[in-house]
Amino acid sequence: MTTYDEPPRCELALSGARVVDPESGLDAVRTVGIDGGRIVAVTESPPRAVRTLDVTGLVVAPGFVDLHSHAQGTTGLQLQALDGVTTALELEAGALPVAGSYAVAAEEGRPINFGFSASWTGARMRVLDGVDLQSDGRGGLAAFAAHQDGPNWRRPAEGPELSRILGALEEAVGEGAIGIGVLLGYAPDTGRAEYLRLAGLAQRLGVPTFTHARYGAHREPHGSLEAALEVISAAAGTGAHMHLCHLNSTSNRSIDAIADAIDSARGYGLRVTTEAYPYGAGSTVIGAAFLDPEELAAHGMSPCSLTYLATGERIADEARLRELRAADPGGLVFLRFLDEDDDADLALLRRSLLLSDTAIATDAMPLVKPGGEVAADVWPVPPGYATHPRSAGCYARTFRWLVRETGALTLTEAVRRCSLLPAQILADAVPSMAAKGRVQPGADADLVVFDPDTITDRATYAALAPSAGIHHVLVDGQFVVRDGKLLPDARPGRPVRASAA
Ligand SMILES: [Zn+2]
Repeated sequence: MTTYDEPPRCELALSGARVVDPESGLDAVRTVGIDGGRIVAVTESPPRAVRTLDVTGLVVAPGFVDLHSHAQGTTGLQLQALDGVTTALELEAGALPVAGSYAVAAEEGRPINFGFSASWTGARMRVLDGVDLQSDGRGGLAAFAAHQDGPNWRRPAEGPELSRILGALEEAVGEGAIGIGVLLGYAPDTGRAEYLRLAGLAQRLGVPTFTHARYGAHREPHGSLEAALEVISAAAGTGAHMHLCHLNSTSNRSIDAIADAIDSARGYGLRVTTEAYPYGAGSTVIGAAFLDPEELAAHGMSPCSLTYLATGERIADEARLRELRAADPGGLVFLRFLDEDDDADLALLRRSLLLSDTAIATDAMPLVKPGGEVAADVWPVPPGYATHPRSAGCYARTFRWLVRETGALTLTEAVRRCSLLPAQILADAVPSMAAKGRVQPGADADLVVFDPDTITDRATYAALAPSAGIHHVLVDGQFVVRDGKLLPDARPGRPVRASAA
């Protein structure tokens, strides 16, 4: 018999909360008891706890699980914590070497949970350009940006070269990498056969792949529909779990056809999962294949759709774009692929976000200093540092815009897409995900406490600022954010790994 009137004595009780647990459907006032990094009680009765924090009127939800964060340094993860994130994983670009990346991050400590996939572009840079990639605990984006100008990593590979690429990825998965991250759109001339081999490898190892699709343009051939269908067909052709990254940015204006195809594929039992972020602009390296001046128009963009972060300039014309791509191919830009002030464009964005079972994932980017250099860890963030606003405001924006302002999602459904759903996407490969994304006894005490009436993003393309309305964030039962303030020395983050293959 379960006794509800005598909860166990615990370290901390959050009392008076509106507890939202998307798995059980619970949405009611409860007390949440926390002990030893776990939730030990979710009860109606008064707590017996060493410390009690009254959170009456606030929502207690599972901490947000971000499948797509390139901001793996401490400062980037702190900004994400202030947006309610308790686990931020670098799964699209990934890392290589993987064991070293986990070791550095664990030694330095991280404010929230972290983890990496195996980096396909990293393996290609190693095998084809002889680049000796370093483990800096930040995953693959820094190495990826630094080695953009390598002459060979984008070219097709076969025979012994392809075997070495696949071998490096298999070794990394053996070290705990959460699947394989495939920045296919950055090396679109690599063969279809290689991508199918990658999917087959992932299927054999029992892990997902995370793909930035090969094309993003609105045209045929070589458009975003063809690229999404390639991901779906790899799931069909191998049985692999294929995850399509940032559906919003790579679907472009073909989102209706792509969304219908994904829905159908799932209906036939294929494992195709998706994520999106609620912004009409992206951010990436200026040397990206799809930012070639010849390509931009097919993406519905022109050079002045791009802002170069190092100088803050809107790129004036093709000549300037060519100049910057040659001089600084790893430099970061914003790219406006949809107009956030245009209702028709916003409808396209909402189509990606509202597709069934699409997780919210940030695509968070590292901070750069004035001048464009990637910033070292520093808190508070000095004025003038820049990054895409999604890095700091993605989740709060989801609740402000899609829940409070437009009612497009219920609060529970938004919580599900930000926490339980990403945990479920990873669950087969990552057993520890069974304890995340839930407010239930036995679950990890990774929690966000926010005010549904005031939660809002404050970061813009012009200025960085943390989200507001998020009162407390706990990771492993320890406060990282308390009373809306970051605790800058908190390092309760733990590594998240796939089970040994
Ligand atoms: Zn991407």
